[in-house]
Amino acid sequence: MPELLSKDSINYSVNGADLGDITNYNEIMVLECLRDCYKRDSSLCDCAICTEDAYALAMNLVPVRYIQISSVNKYKKSDSYVDTSIIKAIVDDAVDKIKKSPNHD
Ligand SMILES: [Zn+2]
Repeated sequence: MPELLSKDSINYSVNGADLGDITNYNEIMVLECLRDCYKRDSSLCDCAICTEDAYALAMNLVPVRYIQISSVNKYKKSDSYVDTSIIKAIVDDAVDKIKKSPNHD
């Protein structure tokens, strides 16, 4: 993997603030929903390629919501909150697409 694409190599410091603490809340939700999918459906291929493809596909379809992780409760009450059911549906679709046309050998 090129060094520039490694998350660990990104300098998040701007004006003394560590912007690495600003988190895409929906990324956390996608990870939870994805784990749920694999727990629920043992017929899914759990190889690294399929798992990565499902994650990447879902992440490209779920709207991003970067927040200060300390204001998660405020975010959940805001108009920009994306309900978990929406994220679950997107992740389910992504997993289904990868199941139907996997990129593994
Ligand atoms: Zn696979």
